[in-house]
Amino acid sequence: MGEFDLIERYFKVAQASNASVALGIGDDCALLQSRPGTQMAISTDMLVEGRHFLSTVSPQALGHKALAVNLSDLAACGATPIGFTLALALPRVDEAWLAGFSHGLLQLAAAHQCVLVGGDTTQGPLNICITVFGEVPLVNGKSQALLRSGAQVGDDIYVSGSLGDARLALEVFRGNLQVDESIFSHCRQRMERPTPRIAMGSALRGVASAAIDVSDGLLGDLGHILKASRVGACIDIPVAMNLVAACAYSAWLKANIPPEKQLDLVLCGGDDYELVFTAAPAVRAAVQAASQNTATPVTRIGQIEAETGQRLRDAHGQVCAAQFSSFDHFA
Ligand code: ADP
Ligand code: MG
Repeated sequence: MGEFDLIERYFKVAQASNASVALGIGDDCALLQSRPGTQMAISTDMLVEGRHFLSTVSPQALGHKALAVNLSDLAACGATPIGFTLALALPRVDEAWLAGFSHGLLQLAAAHQCVLVGGDTTQGPLNICITVFGEVPLVNGKSQALLRSGAQVGDDIYVSGSLGDARLALEVFRGNLQVDESIFSHCRQRMERPTPRIAMGSALRGVASAAIDVSDGLLGDLGHILKASRVGACIDIPVAMNLVAACAYSAWLKANIPPEKQLDLVLCGGDDYELVFTAAPAVRAAVQAASQNTATPVTRIGQIEAETGQRLRDAHGQVCAAQFSSFDHFA
């Protein structure tokens, strides 16, 4: 099968439409029509075998994840998806693999009216590079995009959903941990088929002061907000323990993992693609409304402070010396 047949069969297929896509796959360029009063949001992520995914992952899950991590960046900006391009290097033409991959990819794309508008296909070590295009409204000429740089002293810090799942699955894959099959399949699903928080990201426009998606771990990614906003943060340990409670397998964690390691898992485990965001205490009700309207649980975990750096505060208000810089010692 040649390159053009491959594109025709697996990628230039019937897709959900998007009003902003004037021309999709087939010409030298795709044409996107930005709507008046909007701004384009663009993000690229590359997935390399061995580094970003394990060779055991199914092609469907890989197709899903490759787009999900890109959509997650749009979510973190509060952007609505329009379309994406796919640059693909394949070691060989494996039709079963291509069928699975394109199915997983285009199924998630359809769920978000995000159209595959073009790409490039070449022979080489498996490598998947996606660029997504989305839009954010302009209000009186001002972008409504959620940025890393907007956190203010006194803001609350929130996390969507649950954290640590993907990391737990990875530790099981690495042979460092053993868990019940039901826990493993839940965590594996979260690792291999993350849900981009698109609806929540949009709902947070005009509410959140800053946002980022969690790919490297909560503390690491929050650190990017703090740096860009030139502020610091204090995480309340008793409140952060609510994140442990939010895990689907919290009973197992409590029975099998020491408390500080439980926190380590949720604060430092990566690859969950949840949103971390800040918002003024005055808009707590609006955050709750965004959470309810999009059926996205949120947990408030701490506050933005003027003093730079990150601190963990215990139940007595004391700042702990504990270091949560890395989860690598979990085993
Ligand atoms: P060019 O020679 O101009 O780079 P190609 O022959 O590589 O064009 O691609 C032909 C058409 O197919 C283009 O519209 C391109 O965007 C699209 N395309 C190529 N590879 C992919 C892919 N993996 N997914 C989606 N569209 C693709
Ligand atoms: Mg090309």
